[in-house]
Amino acid sequence: MKVIDSKIPAGPVPEKWKEYKAHQRLVNPKNKLKLDVIVVGTGLAGASAAASLGEMGFNVINLCIQDSPRRAHSIAAQGGINAAKCYQNDGDSVYRLFYDTVKGGDYRAREANVYRLAEVSNNIIDQCVAQGVPFAREYGGMLANRSFGGAQVSRTFYAKGQTGQQLLLGAYSSLSCQVQAGKVKLYTRYEMEDVVIVDGRARGIIAKDLTTGKLVRFSANAVVIATGGYGNTYFLSTNAMGCNCSAAVQCYRKGAYFANPSYVQIHPTCIPVHGDKQSKLTLMSESLRNDGRIWVPKKIEDAKALQQGTKQGWEIPEEDRDYYLERRYPAFGNLVPRDVASRAAKERCDKGFGVNNTGLAVFLDFSESINRLGIDVIMQRYGNLFEMYEEITDLFPGDVANEINGVKYYKPMMIYPAIHYTMGGIWVDYELQTSIPGLFAIGECNFSDHGANRLGASALMQGLADGYFVLPYTIQNYLADQAVWPKVSTDLPEFAEAEKAVDAEQDRLLNIKGKRSVDSIHKELGHIMWEYVGMGRTAEGLKTGLKKMHELEKEFDTNLFVPGTKEGLNIELDKAIHLRDFFTMGQLVAFDALSRNESCGGHFREEYQTEEGEAKRDDENYFYVGCWEYKGKGNEPELIKEPLEYEAIKVQTRNYKN
Ligand SMILES: Cc1cc2nc3c(=O)[nH]c(=O)nc-3n(C[C@H](O)[C@H](O)[C@H](O)COP(=O)(O)OP(=O)(O)OC[C@H]3O[C@@H](n4cnc5c(N)ncnc54)[C@H](O)[C@@H]3O)c2cc1C
Repeated sequence: MKVIDSKIPAGPVPEKWKEYKAHQRLVNPKNKLKLDVIVVGTGLAGASAAASLGEMGFNVINLCIQDSPRRAHSIAAQGGINAAKCYQNDGDSVYRLFYDTVKGGDYRAREANVYRLAEVSNNIIDQCVAQGVPFAREYGGMLANRSFGGAQVSRTFYAKGQTGQQLLLGAYSSLSCQVQAGKVKLYTRYEMEDVVIVDGRARGIIAKDLTTGKLVRFSANAVVIATGGYGNTYFLSTNAMGCNCSAAVQCYRKGAYFANPSYVQIHPTCIPVHGDKQSKLTLMSESLRNDGRIWVPKKIEDAKALQQGTKQGWEIPEEDRDYYLERRYPAFGNLVPRDVASRAAKERCDKGFGVNNTGLAVFLDFSESINRLGIDVIMQRYGNLFEMYEEITDLFPGDVANEINGVKYYKPMMIYPAIHYTMGGIWVDYELQTSIPGLFAIGECNFSDHGANRLGASALMQGLADGYFVLPYTIQNYLADQAVWPKVSTDLPEFAEAEKAVDAEQDRLLNIKGKRSVDSIHKELGHIMWEYVGMGRTAEGLKTGLKKMHELEKEFDTNLFVPGTKEGLNIELDKAIHLRDFFTMGQLVAFDALSRNESCGGHFREEYQTEEGEAKRDDENYFYVGCWEYKGKGNEPELIKEPLEYEAIKVQTRNYKN
């Protein structure tokens, strides 16, 4: 079994980062060398990295698949971004944010990375305020905070329910400055199709102009991918429809290790699936758990009546409601981490207490907080989320529906867990470099900081930490050597071969000329993933899932129908390429889940649970990052382990009860 090292400098955690930063000063941040960097992606990670690298004097080529960087999936982020500012004076600190994140990740994150993340969290807020991001403020002018899961302090900064959008507008304005200054060249509606390796180093990419279908070669001294997560492997998820993992999978096929793919986050507060024709699920922000209480009926006959539609939630009095999170986890209540809340909802629904016609929903109820704070305060906090919920379900959670014994009951939302975020990703070392020299991965597409479960409001923190404060410095350690290398020509045979392979693959997909659409096969893959590689996994189920995925992949290879040609815009062809890569990804998730005979965070193996149904880790055998090396289509990838080393935090069983 191969074992890898994450190249973390020696020393206790805080010291490490100090030494590390001192080392950075050796590199002139305003260097004027003609070094080119390709940044693929303009989400929060990509836009912030491209803007920062441009500002530092590098020549940046920045690509995205949308028609504007502002349309990256990051705009969907609603609830907020964490930072250890301690504005509430509630005992928060860098150490506490570090500790909560490591614990929230079920002790499967790399400790030193998380410390660095917590340390730069405060700089992110300052940076964004300076850009004019309109964070919510208290009456006195101080930035406001709210709480997210897995924390007992208020450290989440927010801009109503549109935090991601506002942060992205900030990053976009910095990016635009660099475009104007000529340091960033932006290519919208360009998709990276492959990474080009020359003499063992990433030296460029093959991209496709999505509007003309033309393949284009880009060369550079380093390549950074910031292309988001792989949640859409499951077909139905809270991710934007365009989210795909093709760039990451191409890097994996070219030799980049893929780490911890089985760590997939299932978010507890999404609008339940309501039919077979659905292609997207909607998240109701975790911020709602600050004031909303989650419950199901105590009596099975009430649940049955709700399922049959003969009773409504607001007709069930207080004493017959089971606030099961508050009951099971008194210390954190409704603010337990997402993996814990999702499993608890599934447990109640599996026992027959679900509250909608499919039996797969629980209530999120604002009656208590509206009675306590008044509807105006609640609307100020969550108005746009209430409106969004009404638009989709035709039910407004702020409407009073009933009064029992003088207590007003409001219409509760219905929610159920759904695929949301992927903690796994391209393996990176401490400098965010992948196992291919010169190839870096940042934001959701790397695996770096969240272990087996991400805490709410920490993805934006990580993406912006990577983009503004980590990568622009660490990449210089690599680029410092590159100054003596001439820029490689795109006429090299490596570029020609890569381009030819992309072209041939498009021809292959177009020439199958079968009978099934991309979406119909993707939907079937999603069903397999959810059923066998979803919230509760077993060895037997995972093996069945893998077998079914192989069969369906054969169907894809022989019976797919892609209309049109490769010239010009062909969205079906682009989707077919994404689906090809979702197959690779789905199998990788299953392989990793099968190899990890324990439950931790978002990876729940039903064979490994306590009597109370909590995840049972096995630190003796699985205290490592599981990295996978590609071994060719149809072959099992090879597992390589990066052992985890904890120096500052004691590894223990997670406890959210007291
Ligand atoms: C509904 C929802 C709400 C969320 N709310 C929060 C929240 O409140 N707080 C929080 O911390 N996190 C939240 N998250 C998670 C967070 O939004 C994401 O993890 C984060 O925005 C990812 O940023 P990114 O820059 O890594 O990737 P993305 O924003 O996904 O951007 C990917 C970029 O890569 C580009 N791209 C992809 N493939 C290619 C390719 N092959 N070639 C060229 N370009 C490519 C895309 O065009 C895009 O520009 C939420 C997620 C969802 C789904």
